[in-house]
Amino acid sequence: MPDSLTRLAAEFKNFLAAQDEDEFITAAAATPAAVSVASERPQEASSVPQMPEGETLTVEFPRAQARQQAVQTPVFTASAAQELASPQQEPVLMNTAQKTAALAEIAETIKSCSRCPLGATRINAVPGEGNVDADLMFVGEGPGFDEDRQGRPFVGRAGQLLDKMIAAMGLKREQVFIANIAKCHPMTDPLHPEKHGNDRAPNAGEIACCRKYLEQQIAAICPKYIVALGGVSAKALISDAKSLGALRGRFYDLSLDSVKLSRPVKILATFHPAALLRNPGWKKDAWADLQMVMAELGLKGASK
Ligand code: URA
Repeated sequence: MPDSLTRLAAEFKNFLAAQDEDEFITAAAATPAAVSVASERPQEASSVPQMPEGETLTVEFPRAQARQQAVQTPVFTASAAQELASPQQEPVLMNTAQKTAALAEIAETIKSCSRCPLGATRINAVPGEGNVDADLMFVGEGPGFDEDRQGRPFVGRAGQLLDKMIAAMGLKREQVFIANIAKCHPMTDPLHPEKHGNDRAPNAGEIACCRKYLEQQIAAICPKYIVALGGVSAKALISDAKSLGALRGRFYDLSLDSVKLSRPVKILATFHPAALLRNPGWKKDAWADLQMVMAELGLKGASK
C-alpha cells in the first residue's frame, strides 16, 4: 500500500474511532460489520478524509462484528441438539472436594461457551454460586443487567428479594446454591448491552444450549430440593409447558436428560422474585410455596 494511502487509512480509522462506538455498531449492523469507502468524487472540503479515486478501504469493527454475527446466527440447530444429547452417565456420589472441582470445571466451560449467540453478547457468563453441599437450590431464568456485569446470579433488585426469601426460610444465601437456566444475559437489544431495561427471558434454543450445564451442576450438587423461580425455570425443569399457576402447589420428581442423579431430587415451582416486585400481592402465595419446602427440610424460618 503506498504511504499516502496508509496515512489516509490511519486518519480515517482515527476519525471513525472518535465517534460514539454504538453509532458504528448500528452502522455496522446495516452492512456486514465493515465500512467500505469507494470514492469517485473529487476531494471535498470536509472533515472526513477522502479516498483517492478508485481505491477501497475496509475498516473492521471487531466488537460490532461479533455482535452482528450473534444477532444473525440461527439460535439453535439440529446439530447442536445432537451434540448435547450425550448418553446418560452413571451417577457418581461426590464428596465436597470432588463437587467443588466439578463445579469449577463446569463454570470454566460456561465462561468460554459460545454454543448460542448469547455467548457473543454477554459481558460475563453467570454459572451460579453457593454451597456445593446444599440441600436446597434455587434456579432462576437467566442473568439480567447487574448479573451480566458482576458474573454472579441474583445480585440486582430481584436478588435482594431472593436473599430476603432465603432469610425468611431461616437460611443464609451461602447455605444454598443459586443458578439459572441460561448462563448468559438474554437481551431484547443485543447490540446495546449497556442499556437498562434490556432483559428478556431465554428462548427455547438458548435454554436447550444451556441445559447440559445446569444438569451437570444439579447432578454434582444433588440437592434434596430445587425451587424453580418463575415459569421459564419451572417449565424447563419440570419439562411441562403448563402455566406457572398450574405447576405450583406440589413437588415433582426431577428427571435429567444427560445425567443420572445419585439420589432423588424434588422440584417446587414458585413465583420469580422479579414478578413479586411487580406484584407484591403474590408474596403470600410465594411464602406458602416456600413453607412447603421448609416443612420437608425441617426449617423453622427466621427467628423473630
Ligand atoms: N433474574 C434471574 O432469573 N436470574 C438472575 O440471576 C437475576 C435475575
